Amino acid sequence: MEAYWRAKGADVFEIRQRADLSRGMDLLALPGGESTVQGKLLKELGLFDPLKSAIDGGLPVFATCAGLILLAEKVEDGGERTVRPERWFGILPVAVRRNAYGRQLGSFTTRGTFDGTPDVPMTFIRAPAISAIFSPDVEVLSTFDGHPTAVRWRNITAFTWHPELHIG
Ligand code: GLN
Repeated sequence: MEAYWRAKGADVFEIRQRADLSRGMDLLALPGGESTVQGKLLKELGLFDPLKSAIDGGLPVFATCAGLILLAEKVEDGGERTVRPERWFGILPVAVRRNAYGRQLGSFTTRGTFDGTPDVPMTFIRAPAISAIFSPDVEVLSTFDGHPTAVRWRNITAFTWHPELHIG
C-alpha cells in the first residue's frame, strides 16, 4: 500500500501510534490484512476513535479488503456476526461477507472494468463480498460474479480487491 501511494507521488507515513495522527493527512489508506486483528489493534492503540471522527468528518479514505470490512455498516461472518461491533467503524452503508470466495478460490486475479476503465487487473486475497448496499448514494465502481467489488460513497472509496498490487 505504501509503495502504491509513493509511486503516485504521495508523501506517505504509517500510523502506528496515536502521536502519528498529529502529522496530519490528506488521505487515509486502510490496507488489507486481518480485519479482526486490525480492529483490535486500532482500539488498543487508541487510534479507533480519532480515526472514526476523522472519517465521519470527511477525510478521504482509500480502503482495500480488510479496510473495507472495518468500514462496513454490517459484517456477516459465517452467517452471524462474531466480531465485536465496537471494533468496526460501521460507517459505509454496505454489508460485507468475509472470506466470501471459499478456500479454493481464496486468492485469484481476474480482469474487469473499474470506474469505466476496462481490463483492470483485480487481485482478490481471501476477499469479502459486498452482499448488500443500503444507500442509493453508494456508487458501484466494479463488479465480479454478480457482486459489487468496489464502491464509492461520500469520502470513501473501498475495494474488496487489491489495486495497490498493480502499480502503474
Ligand atoms: N480475510 C480477511 C478478513 O476477513 C481480509 C483479507 C484481506 O485483507 N486481503 O479480514
